[in-house]
Amino acid sequence: MSGIQTSFQDLVHLFFPHVCTGCGSDILNDKQLLCLHCLSELPETNFFYLPHNPVEKIFYGRIPVRSAAAGYFFTKNSLIQTLLHRLKYKGNKEIGFYFGKLLSKFLMNNERFSGVDALVPLPLNPRREKKRGYNQSVVICEGITSAWKKPVLNNAVIRKVYTETQTQRGRITRWENMDGVFAVSQPEALENKHIMLVDDLVTTGASLEACGSELLKVRGTTLSIATLGYTL
Ligand SMILES: [Zn+2]
Repeated sequence: MSGIQTSFQDLVHLFFPHVCTGCGSDILNDKQLLCLHCLSELPETNFFYLPHNPVEKIFYGRIPVRSAAAGYFFTKNSLIQTLLHRLKYKGNKEIGFYFGKLLSKFLMNNERFSGVDALVPLPLNPRREKKRGYNQSVVICEGITSAWKKPVLNNAVIRKVYTETQTQRGRITRWENMDGVFAVSQPEALENKHIMLVDDLVTTGASLEACGSELLKVRGTTLSIATLGYTL
């Protein structure tokens, strides 16, 4: 690289500092969100390569899932918690795209997920999506498909706005009672496909189960699940 180019980049860096989203250090290139140190600190689960992993076990006896996995352990006061918080509540969309790209590395050349035909982001409640400006699951899918080329079926399944009775119920019962929250709107787009349902985090699996069971009602569908984080 020529000296002129280097000093121009130094100048750009001076006026538009690009720092690691994790630790604030400035030793990373323009395209990266995390420095190599923070990246190496992310707690990978290795679930993508592991049949009968804890994410698959969540759905045992609930819905038939071909393969399921989460990329990283989600623990309290961790970097991953901070990043997911920024993605969901601070408008930092880039984090979702970045993590989607990281997930694509687990998915490429992965025998367990090789049959996937299309990605379906878990729909967000329309009111929440309007407030947030985007659905983080859609952004994660965009990151995945930027490297692992699969179509993203954005509107094939929809999430209904909370009804009055649902809002009046307690928080816990609403969490558990997901009946009728999701509905397939484009069955023809899903027919005979192996769908990978994508969300940011898997905890009880209630919403993934509810959405997944609607997808499985469409003729010939197979269901797999992938999330960014897994709560211990
Ligand atoms: Zn860092």
